[in-house]
Amino acid sequence: MTWSYWRVPPFVTSIFFILGVLTLYWVLFNWITSWVHNRHINIDDDVINSWHGVLYMLVFVFSMQSMIVGQNDAWQFMNFQVIAMIFCAYFLNIHIPYYLFFPVVLVYMIFNQSIGYWQSWGHAITLVLFFWVLNYVRIHFQNHKLAPLIYMSVGIPFAGVLWLWMKVKFNLPWDTYWQEWVYLVIFEVLLYVYVTMLTKDSEFKLRLAQFASHDALTQAENFAAYTGEIKFLFEDSSRNNLKLSMMMFDIDHFKHVNDTYGHLAGDRVLQHATDVVQTVINANDTKVKLYRTGGEEFNILFPGYDVESTQTIVRQIFIALNHLAVNFGDQQIPISISVGVSAMSKDDLSPTDFYNRVDHNLYHSKRNGRMRITVS
Ligand code: GH3
Ligand code: MG
Ligand code: MG
Repeated sequence: MTWSYWRVPPFVTSIFFILGVLTLYWVLFNWITSWVHNRHINIDDDVINSWHGVLYMLVFVFSMQSMIVGQNDAWQFMNFQVIAMIFCAYFLNIHIPYYLFFPVVLVYMIFNQSIGYWQSWGHAITLVLFFWVLNYVRIHFQNHKLAPLIYMSVGIPFAGVLWLWMKVKFNLPWDTYWQEWVYLVIFEVLLYVYVTMLTKDSEFKLRLAQFASHDALTQAENFAAYTGEIKFLFEDSSRNNLKLSMMMFDIDHFKHVNDTYGHLAGDRVLQHATDVVQTVINANDTKVKLYRTGGEEFNILFPGYDVESTQTIVRQIFIALNHLAVNFGDQQIPISISVGVSAMSKDDLSPTDFYNRVDHNLYHSKRNGRMRITVS
């Protein structure tokens, strides 16, 4: 290697180019999703993935081709473009029908000044067919144990036919034809392996995030999740003058449940109580969120609610839990809860001020005979 010349074959450069394009895609995708999550914008990651993927690959394909449009080596970047197409058809979790892909190919042909060539039409039709077959294979076989083989058994022949059209159009020697075909097949393998690795990595991170924000016993969100959410809601509600209420409940004499029926029975009670509360919430308003903030202590956040409007849900939860008799073996375990409720006030300087008032109300319920609701 000298200062001005890299002694690396173009094929090796191409491999790292493709890896770079995919890595940049992933970095941007992760950045966009965390930006969206931090702002609590309600868009599914899959939707972001789809739109980001399609736009990213379109920009990539068109900007590369713009450098060589109309030249007699205008086939140079075809392998990259086919890889971008395979990425969208097979690896993105979306279903773009072939009749929507066709106009993209048409615009590309106009842009590439190849619309007047019959070979280009043959190439375009093969490409749309390839796109359709990849979609089919993805839908029916992506989770099959032979998925990589099925993917390659589609990828290899289509790569050969696509290059045959280019060979005819540009009068390429057979050497070039075979070489480009083999390169494309290698890129297809590389794409499969690399995307699978990246996807596994992001699934792993997703599981870690789920583990960090959820309680393993009840699957409710945990104290860490509560802290993050109350901080966000408190600031958001103060800034935009929105209402915010909180309900806190604690199971009465839970130590007695453990002592009488055993710790496993106590665990079962916690799981069952969580399921019941979540069912009530789901039936009313999914914006309301439940957190297990202590052993047998739970917080519920009501964004947009004043104390008055929380009453329906609060009462439903109160009645449901106080009537609950959890089955454990041949035993029936009755429980009751004590509740504190309050709304955020202008005098609250921090989420802790707000929390302390709700906590104080809960302990008022405890001190005054338990199994009651205190609101202030
Ligand atoms: P009070 O009515 O005043 O709330 O009385 P209590 O007995 O419910 O309250 P206390 O704080 O004295 O006891 C709470 C008990 O909850 C003690 C602890 O062992 C139990 N606990 C905490 N987490 C778990 C858990 O995950 N599983 C089980 N089985 N018990 C738990
Ligand atoms: Mg208790
Ligand atoms: Mg407690």
